[in-house]
Amino acid sequence: MQPNDLPAPSNRLTCPNCGNDDDFYEIAEDVTITTRYIQNIDGSFTPEEDNSQVLGEIKLVCGQCQEDLSEFHHHFSEMLF
Ligand SMILES: [Zn+2]
Repeated sequence: MQPNDLPAPSNRLTCPNCGNDDDFYEIAEDVTITTRYIQNIDGSFTPEEDNSQVLGEIKLVCGQCQEDLSEFHHHFSEMLF
């Protein structure tokens, strides 16, 4: 694997810095998570809906060398199932 080989969209994502291709982190900044609860008759709570909103940047980071791979985040999102 050549370090300068940028992956084509149909390829597996590979860190251009260290060649890692199986360990990645996604980091979301400024996330607001809103969860609606209904209180039951016995006083317990049941979550009704979950609403998370990412207000900040979403970063993709190499799990091996912590290189910022955010330029590949679009590719990452497309391959997320
Ligand atoms: Zn790396």
